Amino acid sequence: MELTKIFGSNVFNDKVMKELLPKEIYKALKETIEKDIPLRPDVADVVANAMKDWAISRGATHYTHWFQPLTGITAEKHDSFISPEADGSVILEFSGKQLIQGEPDASSFPSGGLRATFEARGYTAWDCTSPAFLKEDESSNVTLTIPTAFYSYNGEALDKKTPLLRSMKAVSKQAQRVLKALGNTTSTKVTSTVGPEQEYFLVDKKFYLDRIDLMLTGRTIFGAPAPKGQELEDQYFGSIKDRVSDYMNDLDTELWKMGITSKTKHNEVAPAQYEMAPIFTTTNIATDHNQLVMETMQKVALRHELVCLLHEKPYAGINGSGKHNNWSLSTDDGINLLEPGSTPGENVQFLVFVSALIAAVDKHADILRATCATAGNDHRLGANEAPPAIISIFMGEELTEILAKISKGEKITAKGAQFVGVGVDTLPIIPKDNTDRNRTSPFAFTGNKFEFRMVGSAQSIAGVNVALNTIAAEALDEIAKRLEKAKDKNAEVVAIVRETYKKHSRVIFNGNNYAEAWVKEAEKRGLPNVRNAVDALKAFITDKAFKLFEKYEVLSHKELHSRYDIYTEAYSKQINIEALVAIDMAKKQFIPAAIEYATFLADSISSFKAVSIAANVQEDLLKKLGALLTSSYKNLTKLEAAVAKAQLIADTVKSAENYRDNVFTVIQALRKDIDAIEAIVPADMWPVPNYTDLLFKL
Ligand code: ADP
Ligand code: MG
Repeated sequence: MELTKIFGSNVFNDKVMKELLPKEIYKALKETIEKDIPLRPDVADVVANAMKDWAISRGATHYTHWFQPLTGITAEKHDSFISPEADGSVILEFSGKQLIQGEPDASSFPSGGLRATFEARGYTAWDCTSPAFLKEDESSNVTLTIPTAFYSYNGEALDKKTPLLRSMKAVSKQAQRVLKALGNTTSTKVTSTVGPEQEYFLVDKKFYLDRIDLMLTGRTIFGAPAPKGQELEDQYFGSIKDRVSDYMNDLDTELWKMGITSKTKHNEVAPAQYEMAPIFTTTNIATDHNQLVMETMQKVALRHELVCLLHEKPYAGINGSGKHNNWSLSTDDGINLLEPGSTPGENVQFLVFVSALIAAVDKHADILRATCATAGNDHRLGANEAPPAIISIFMGEELTEILAKISKGEKITAKGAQFVGVGVDTLPIIPKDNTDRNRTSPFAFTGNKFEFRMVGSAQSIAGVNVALNTIAAEALDEIAKRLEKAKDKNAEVVAIVRETYKKHSRVIFNGNNYAEAWVKEAEKRGLPNVRNAVDALKAFITDKAFKLFEKYEVLSHKELHSRYDIYTEAYSKQINIEALVAIDMAKKQFIPAAIEYATFLADSISSFKAVSIAANVQEDLLKKLGALLTSSYKNLTKLEAAVAKAQLIADTVKSAENYRDNVFTVIQALRKDIDAIEAIVPADMWPVPNYTDLLFKL
């Protein structure tokens, strides 16, 4: 099929709605979607019926309310359209009520104390701002999938979507106030937009199935480095191998069918690492789509005898995977509020919005950091290519200079367009991008948007965008108050830029974020550097966070606390699983393999000696192996004791801290021994595929 026909073919999108809904119903639904007006029940009935007929005509037998509980992945329960008749036959039905609200038994989803098991009711509510679509599996089972929000009996959010929608409303309202105060009379709505770039690894399924650490934790807990890593830089943007290319094509097709604008694909830095990026859309849809991207990446991989690894650090010693969350604000009449234009120094709107972001990020760096805090991302932040755990903003030299000049009351001289000449006549001369990229910054201004690079590859992007929208809303609220009162708006804008720069320029850093010197410099500037998830998550339960999220009605005190508890517990659970896997592998696979080789060496020594030949090599190897065996067994025993102890700690925070300090550290010590053993034991005696198998045999 042609690409243009494939694209969106499984989506109940605007085109389909226009075609299938009576005019008046279509208009009413559009009003709900665009102007946040409650949906009329009679409209819902007609829409539901049209959706059902459309889905059935495409082979669907079931529908599902699709939602995003706090596990970070998606959930679905399928109901068929059948409704029994008195004569023993069935008709197919789908009412407005069924479309609008569902009631999954929610007792097994994490609620962080928001809901006791005996009152486990949870509700799902149709989010009509994200279109319904058909999910197909390989054997053509088709399900009508309805994006929904998930909340408790008391209306408390149990999911990632509810606060995201609330935060979009908050930032829209405050941004509009600012626009109005600046004299904008044409825009009626502001939407936060996101384009999330997704990194991932592929591994051959047959190797994956031979490693329970990959299977159960998503990462290799053990593994000596391969002789080659990423040092030749031959993978990044390298030509894509056929097998991978086939996979990517298949993935694109599946994504396009669901209306996901998969645009860019390429090899990433580490061996067997790749990236996919869609074209940006509303934060809400981008978040739904990113969940589908992750799910589809994993599903399609299996068809190619591959496994897609979304973990932030599947392999030690080479780059991990992240998600680059490109974020901006757009009006309904198409203005990107972070577009600097050709003369940013005179672009009042741009200066105001950029100032708001600088203030917001500096003030709430701790919250942004918290949204990226997971056990998996701990391996990444600060290691190899990833940005360090310090939040700073890259603004680029030119924009920084403009802000600095305004703050000092100096005149800005427009530089005029600058061009890059390459010195080859046949190549075009291109305008110089005044926001030259800095790949090391966690929060970079990249032309007309901010790119937040700390997000982990396996994470939902909901959390980070809830935070971005809300902190932006607060900063814009403060600016709106000033502008609404000011007589001379331009003078007030200058004052706002000046004050923001004076107070918050410490968060701007255009240098190399990977350099050790930056860590020291950031400390001098008083910027927080929280190195682990357990500590980082605490930013969700500070007075500052409670005040912020409550004021903009994004998350209540109780909701924040429940999230904090769930994420902290998730950390402990993850490390607990990793510890158990480490124990299992060391005990049942690696130590026995080491003993087998040691026995082989011992036998060899006896045989050599029996015929009076020196066995120096064997003796030396045996000595080394013996020492490592002793040490690994000691660490294994220590790990078993540490886990047993950690499992007894009831307090959520103490437990997580204990897993971090007393369990995770012992896993690392055990790994050191086992990896050293792997480096000695013959390859054919090693019980699991090694790093060369995993990384270079695609
Ligand atoms: P790079 O890897 O060079 O950063 P990519 O093309 O891989 O660039 O990704 C850039 C992402 O930013 C894309 O998803 C793109 O759609 C998105 N983007 C562009 N403009 C905006 C915007 N105004 N708001 C949000 N995202 C945007
Ligand atoms: Mg990219």
